[in-house]
Amino acid sequence: MEFNQLTIHELQKKLKDGSLTSVEITESVYRRIASVEEKVHSYITMMEETAIGQARAADRRIKEGNAGELTGIPIAIKDILCTEGVRTTCGSRTLEDFIPPYDATVVRKLKDVGAVFVGKTNMDEFAMGSSTETSRFGITKNPWDLERIPGGSSGGSAAAVAADECIASLGTDTGGSIRQPAALCGVVGMKPTYGRVSRFGMVAFASSLDQIGPITKDVEDCAIMMNVISGHDTSDSTSVPKEVPDYRAYISRDIEGCTIGIPKEYFVEGVDPEIRASIDTTIKTLEGLGARCLDISLPHTEYCIATYYIIAPSEASSNLARYDGVRYGFRAPNEENLLDMYRKTRSSGFGAEVKRRIMIGTYSLSSGYYDAYYKKASQVRALIRDDFDSAFTKCDVILTPATPTPAFKIGEKMDDPLQMYLCDIFTLSANLAGVPGISVPCGYTKGGLPMGVQFMANHFEEGKLLQIASAYEKNSKIERRMPEL
Ligand code: GLN
Repeated sequence: MEFNQLTIHELQKKLKDGSLTSVEITESVYRRIASVEEKVHSYITMMEETAIGQARAADRRIKEGNAGELTGIPIAIKDILCTEGVRTTCGSRTLEDFIPPYDATVVRKLKDVGAVFVGKTNMDEFAMGSSTETSRFGITKNPWDLERIPGGSSGGSAAAVAADECIASLGTDTGGSIRQPAALCGVVGMKPTYGRVSRFGMVAFASSLDQIGPITKDVEDCAIMMNVISGHDTSDSTSVPKEVPDYRAYISRDIEGCTIGIPKEYFVEGVDPEIRASIDTTIKTLEGLGARCLDISLPHTEYCIATYYIIAPSEASSNLARYDGVRYGFRAPNEENLLDMYRKTRSSGFGAEVKRRIMIGTYSLSSGYYDAYYKKASQVRALIRDDFDSAFTKCDVILTPATPTPAFKIGEKMDDPLQMYLCDIFTLSANLAGVPGISVPCGYTKGGLPMGVQFMANHFEEGKLLQIASAYEKNSKIERRMPEL
């Protein structure tokens, strides 16, 4: 086995006992990138030179006996997170040449513990999409089948982990963009509670829904990443000053007596039969471990898509107003006057999906329609949140499929936005309610495509998610396969 195929916790041991150096691990990651990146295209920008420097520094730090949890571990970063001195494009022409003068808080935290940055990963433009097809920088392919999408919008981050082009990565999740690509690429992805992880330095999409989180090879790695990135930050007023538990302590705890809610609204027609079957097996496995499954209802589920696709575009239309060609980012040439400059800059700087969202959002927020759309959606969002509050009086965690179907073919849904929006049917409720969710591999289709199960818990109960996900992972008897590339 190559070093780049190992998990964070496996590598930590080897780094600690001196049998491996960070430089060796980092080099093995770049060797892999050299051989498969052309096929998969996980990255927008490589950071090889600085990475080797970081790896050397990490090796010194380890020798001095002052290693943190991620010291020397090669991590990939979604290109929506600001990296000081390194281009941050957000998958858009608008930010094609944008070099941030500062690091996002999560990036700084990783730097502080001595992680190694492999590169910036591909994504849907401004994180709007479910397939990584709207990127200005080309399409990322699913490592399990290069004719298929890896999911999105953090498709590059998920594909890079699945293809062993990094050890772990950071993604962002506004409606499912960590959990959906993780499920479609056969890796673990967690969206933390809203406020658990600082959003400072994340290019804003929909500020009341956005969260940053890890994509990893297994659940223990997810806990390790959460330990490093969580916590209050005075630069993000929505981050919550709440103590961060040791998430790793939840790994390998038994789940005897744990109650798992199965919401009937998530087991409806339209779910792929192989996914349905694998979820049924998952439920049996968990019951076998002493968990108690009970039927619950989240009655406002049917309004989630409509609510999300009003709130997210509304916030996006406001957040993206800053890209005016004046302060930073792309500016179209040959303007005749100021208005003409705005028009040319914004119509050629943004792609079709981003423009569609800006138009939907501007419409929903306009004075004549605000009450009917944005205000109504905000009220329904409160009902969706109440559904979760009452469900969590009865159960510890909620179990659902992570996605309705396995990875689809490239191009299949690009002409039909509504079909694309339906990809997030099981993930966006967690963002609307602000609760944490994790997607964990639960098997492969006959055609060899990965499938994922999602667990959701009450606010700030990421520990419970890691506990149940890890118990499942250890007992599910799902072999760990590697994609053939
Ligand atoms: N696919 C959803 C959207 O297009 C979610 C994206 C995300 O979570 N960033 O809005």
